[in-house]
Amino acid sequence: MKLFNTLTKKVEEFVPNVEGKVNMYTCGPTVYHFAHIGNLRSYIMEDVLEKVLRYAGYDVKRVMNITDVGHLSSDADTGEDKMLKGAKRENKTVMDIAKFYTDAFFADCAKLNIKTPDVVEPATNCIDAFIEMIEVLLQKGYAYRAGENIYFDTSRLDTYYVFGNQSEEELMVGVREDVTEDENKKNKNDFVLWFTKSKFEDQALKWDSPWGVGYPGWHIECSCISMKHLGEYMDIHCGGIDNMFPHHTNEIAQSEAYLGHKWCNYWFHVHHLNDQSGKMSKSKGEFLTVSLLEQKGYDPLAYRLFCLQSHYRKPLVFSYEALDQAAGTYKKLKKRIQDLERSGAADETAVAQYKEKFVEIVGNDVNTSMGITLLYDVLKADLSGVTKRAIVASYDEVLGLELLKEAVAEAGDVDAELEAYVLGKIEERKVAKKEKNFALADAIRDELLENGIAIKDTREGVVWERI
Ligand SMILES: [Zn+2]
Repeated sequence: MKLFNTLTKKVEEFVPNVEGKVNMYTCGPTVYHFAHIGNLRSYIMEDVLEKVLRYAGYDVKRVMNITDVGHLSSDADTGEDKMLKGAKRENKTVMDIAKFYTDAFFADCAKLNIKTPDVVEPATNCIDAFIEMIEVLLQKGYAYRAGENIYFDTSRLDTYYVFGNQSEEELMVGVREDVTEDENKKNKNDFVLWFTKSKFEDQALKWDSPWGVGYPGWHIECSCISMKHLGEYMDIHCGGIDNMFPHHTNEIAQSEAYLGHKWCNYWFHVHHLNDQSGKMSKSKGEFLTVSLLEQKGYDPLAYRLFCLQSHYRKPLVFSYEALDQAAGTYKKLKKRIQDLERSGAADETAVAQYKEKFVEIVGNDVNTSMGITLLYDVLKADLSGVTKRAIVASYDEVLGLELLKEAVAEAGDVDAELEAYVLGKIEERKVAKKEKNFALADAIRDELLENGIAIKDTREGVVWERI
C-alpha cells in the first residue's frame, strides 16, 4: 500500500506501527444540520481507504467522533455555536438536534454504502477525558488561563504549522474574515481548550470543571477520543482538506504536547467538492443533500461512482450534467454485469490474480478511477462470465457500488426497456440504410416517432430523445 501523506507531501509506502494492524481515525460530522454531498465526498473516499486496507489483508480499527458540542461557526473559535444555532433554527433542544442529525448522517452514509466505523463516540460522552488532558497541558506549561478560559499556547511549540506554508496562507484568509478577535489570546494561533466565560450566555450544555462551569473547545475532542480507543500511536488520521487548518494542526499541537512524542504517522486529506460557483457550503447556493438527489431521481450510488471516478486529491466539480453522466455509466455497467453468463465454475487462479492487481492499483494512493478502469478491463477480458462475476463481487467489497445486486422492478426499469427497444430500432434502421432500403429506414423512424421518440443523425452517430 502507498499513501500520500500531507505531513511530508509525498506518496509513501504505508508502514503501520504494528505489523498487519491499522489504527485509523476520522473526524466526524458536527451534527447541527444535514451533511451536504461535499462533506460526504470525504466520507466516501475515507470508506474506500478503510475497505482497501481490509482488502489488502490489514486488520483495521477505525474510530470516529460526533461533534455535538464546542464547534463554533468559525473553525478558529469565533462566531456562533453551531449546535446552538441549529437548536434555535428549529426550536428544539441541542440534544434533540444532535440526535436527529446524527441519525440523518448515518442514514445518508447507509445509502452511499459507507461502512459505520468500529467506534463512534459523541464528544459529550468524554468530557472527563477532555478535562484530564487539559489539566496535563496546564501542568506541562502548554496551556494558560485568560479571561476565565483555558487556551493552548502555540508559542511553546518548535513547529506549529506542521502541514507547511499552505496552512499559513489559509490562516491569513481566516484572520481577515475574523471579525471578533479574542483579546485573551497571547498569540494569534492560540486556541480555546475550555470555555468558562464565553459570549454565549445561553450555552445549553455546561459541565463542572476545575476552572468553573463551562464547555470544551472543538479540537480537544479528536485528540481525546482517538487516544481513548486507539492509544498513543496512530497510523492514519483522515478528514476533509478544510480540516487541515486549524483543526488538524491544533489536534497535533495538543496531542504531541500532551504525549511528548509523535502521535500520528499518516495524514489523509480529501479535497473539496465544488459547485460551479466555488466551494460548496450549507449557506450558499442550492443545499445539496443525498435526499435532494433522491428526490430528483438519482440513485445515491451513482453519486458514489461519480466520486470514485476522480482522485481524492483533486478538487471535483459537481454539476447535474456530470452526475447524469455518472448515473448513465452506472446503469450501463450494472446491466453489463447482470448479463454475464452465470453457469459453470469460476477460474479461481484468475480471480486471485485480478485481486492482486486491484490491490496494486487501488492500493496506490487510493486510485479509485484506475480501479474502475480495471473493472472494465475485467469485463473485456477473455474470461468466463462466472469468473468475471466473481472478480466483480470481490472488487465491489471496496468499491461499494452493489454491482451484482439485481435491479428490482421499478420506474427505472421501464427506462432500461425503452432504451433497449430504441437502440434495437436504431440498429435495424442502420442495417436498412446500409442495404439502401430507405423506405424501411423511414418507416422505422416514423414508428419511433409514433412512440414518442425522435432520432437525429449526427457525426457521432444516431442520438435519440423522448418528445
Ligand atoms: Zn477532528
